[in-house]
Amino acid sequence: MTTAEKQKIAVIGAGIIGTMSAWQLAKRGFDVTVFEQWNSPNDRGASAGESRIFRTIYKEGPQYVPILKKSRDMWQELEHNQSSQVLQMCGGLMVGHPDQADVAAVISCAQAADLDHRVLNATEMSAEFPQYRLDDDEVGVFDPASGVFRPEAAVLSARKEAERLGAVFHPYTRALNIRSHSTAVMIDTQNGAQAFDKVVVSTGPWANELTGFDHKVLTPQRLVALWFPARDVPLHAPENMPVSIRRHAEGGFSCFPTLDGLSVKILPHHLAWTELDTVEDLPRFIEPDFVRAAEHAVARLMPGLEPIPIRVSTWTEGFTVDETPILGPIDADPRIILAVGMSGQGFKFSPMMGSIVTDMVESGRSADTLAAMDANRFEGSRS
Ligand SMILES: Cc1cc2nc3c(=O)[nH]c(=O)nc-3n(C[C@H](O)[C@H](O)[C@H](O)COP(=O)(O)OP(=O)(O)OC[C@H]3O[C@@H](n4cnc5c(N)ncnc54)[C@H](O)[C@@H]3O)c2cc1C
Repeated sequence: MTTAEKQKIAVIGAGIIGTMSAWQLAKRGFDVTVFEQWNSPNDRGASAGESRIFRTIYKEGPQYVPILKKSRDMWQELEHNQSSQVLQMCGGLMVGHPDQADVAAVISCAQAADLDHRVLNATEMSAEFPQYRLDDDEVGVFDPASGVFRPEAAVLSARKEAERLGAVFHPYTRALNIRSHSTAVMIDTQNGAQAFDKVVVSTGPWANELTGFDHKVLTPQRLVALWFPARDVPLHAPENMPVSIRRHAEGGFSCFPTLDGLSVKILPHHLAWTELDTVEDLPRFIEPDFVRAAEHAVARLMPGLEPIPIRVSTWTEGFTVDETPILGPIDADPRIILAVGMSGQGFKFSPMMGSIVTDMVESGRSADTLAAMDANRFEGSRS
């Protein structure tokens, strides 16, 4: 692309989806401007909180596996170009009864996509992964192509790679409005209006504000993370402990190996993820009953942890009603491309979200996207 042909593309929101989009757009020669209301990275949105899971055997379905495999290659490319480590491949486990829906889905995905995996019974699990306590009839499904991310480092690396390739970031610049004109798409900020050829909206849990989706379609939700001290820290380090998703009648959670030299992060799934009216309503306060229930799950299922959390924090993410991202140009103005509603899944495949966004900026479509993510499937629910 020559300079004269360079299309001007704006990216609104610089969490992991916006920074990955900026990287991919800049890599393919677009003139990229990024607006972020805070800085990038920041701890206000969905792309922070010490750790995230990468997994390849996907309970959400084998249709995601090609996107996950390509994302893994792109994570490696980013790490290589930025001389940084953001993803440590420590392996991953899905732990529960083989008839439990997510455990069964993982086994079926591994078989359908012909992915390396091992199914360990309770005795084999206690010998190989004593960090987890299983009932006699439970299993652990091991995915060697899983790992743990450092999300803040990942956002920073994606931003720096985008900047290296020419993208320009405007931190502390909130996009107030998007206006469609015949010759350009206008973005209003506190610094005035700017004209672009196309606009990518990657505003995460704030997405209702600029996209106009109602809360029946897209809602910010509160997620809670708790850190429990490990009695034997090396045993719970990523070199010895896989990331995991646990399914059990007394507790369901994501579990992350020690990254702070002290504790294991647990993200309960079995306790309600409450809906928020807006991200600004995200409370820091956690109800004592919530913490007590998480303590009970840890005491019951994680034998190497003190069931007393030393840190508790709240986070937010944008969830769609079908728990599938919203990705692509909108019919009302195809110059506006949405990449929102990642629904608790977006970190691991964010490089491919950036690549698909870039395909759509280039040609309006992408061979890599999934029909289920179509940005117009909720048309009629936007104001
Ligand atoms: C606690 C938690 C655990 C998770 N665990 C996993 C996991 O293990 N694996 C996984 O793959 N995924 C996981 N996810 C999901 C994943 O982290 C998210 O899908 C992903 O981070 C979403 O990124 P985003 O860029 O869409 O949103 P964000 O990171 O929130 O970025 C949106 C950005 O837009 C900015 N913004 C909003 N409005 C405006 C505006 N008007 N103008 C300018 N800037 C604006 C915000 O400040 C923000 O920086 C988890 C999410 C949470 C919250």
